Amino acid sequence: MTDYYEILGVPRDASAEQIKKSYRKLARELHPDVAGEAGEERFKDVARAYEVLSNPDKRQQYDMGVDPSSPSGGAGAGFGNGFGFQDIFETFFGGGGQTAGPVPRARRGQDALVRMDIDLAEAAFGAKRELQVDTAVVCGTCGGNGCRPGTDLKTCDVCHGRGNVQRVARSFLGQVMTTAPCAACQGFGTVIPEPCADCSGEGRVRSRRTLTVNVPAGVDTGTRIKLTAQGEVGPGGGPAGDLYVEIREKPHDTFVRRGDDLHCTLQVPMTAAALGTVLDLETLDGEQEIDLRPGTQPGQVVTLKGLGVGHLHAGGRGDLNVHVEVQVPTGLDDEQTELLRSLATLRGEERPEPRLSAAHPGVFSRLRDKLSGR
Ligand SMILES: [Zn+2]
Ligand SMILES: [Zn+2]
Repeated sequence: MTDYYEILGVPRDASAEQIKKSYRKLARELHPDVAGEAGEERFKDVARAYEVLSNPDKRQQYDMGVDPSSPSGGAGAGFGNGFGFQDIFETFFGGGGQTAGPVPRARRGQDALVRMDIDLAEAAFGAKRELQVDTAVVCGTCGGNGCRPGTDLKTCDVCHGRGNVQRVARSFLGQVMTTAPCAACQGFGTVIPEPCADCSGEGRVRSRRTLTVNVPAGVDTGTRIKLTAQGEVGPGGGPAGDLYVEIREKPHDTFVRRGDDLHCTLQVPMTAAALGTVLDLETLDGEQEIDLRPGTQPGQVVTLKGLGVGHLHAGGRGDLNVHVEVQVPTGLDDEQTELLRSLATLRGEERPEPRLSAAHPGVFSRLRDKLSGR
């Protein structure tokens, strides 16, 4: 267990007054203005020791062999006198260890997001698309430094370019120096004596541009394409963030996409399904011949290999699955009725036996499973 009495340099029976006095003395010695950064670690130890020994409850716990400032000791993060450890630390070392010094004027800009609607064919094959974007760009008049042409940045008179000012504050430790950003220059260390008229000193202006976006094959709704450094230019003409183009695929009239496979439903008259036929189907790749065998059943799937969507960043394409929907004729005239009756007689189907098929998922659920990729 850490010996807090030793860290503070006091005997185990030291009075509260002795502990406080010793702490003040050490705190002044270890102040960064005196000890530099080297004092930081030791100051943390000293502050932790004081946090425990200055609080009668915690000191008692500690004397009984429990360290109340260790994570298992369940210490509350506070000095007995209402100062938090963090408060003291920040007073000494300035905002949690932030380095003092001027803040650069040029800062990286934000990333930007735009949405782009594409159609299925563009997703399947990839496309080059023009895209209009509105983002901040470097001000052409001042080149990003925010100064009227012919003028330049001037060192801040108040902080002399340091970007921060030091104040002396009184505390129970005595006088401590605190560092705060310079209000005159907002911490930049420089001021703009005459701001550029076009950007009001911001170093950037909004502008509408047209970009060419390479949409790779295989993108889908939600895919984001990153265009490096095409986002918002930062304040002070700082480097641009990235631009993300989020894809939204418009639904197609006849094709449904599942992954990189496409599905469609082909309506076939009952007679054609029974006799077999050859059809020309309009696909993303133009007309394709489909050969339906005699006796094609409702729900049967004809797969056209490689006529689906291209795989993203990989070779090859998904398939086009054609689901057959057999249409039973309605509105038969007398002659047609007679023909079908004769057919039924020939096939012995005038009064068919009621026959239930085995309990398996029907056409509908098979189709649904196929669509959801199960
Ligand atoms: Zn400007
Ligand atoms: Zn200043």
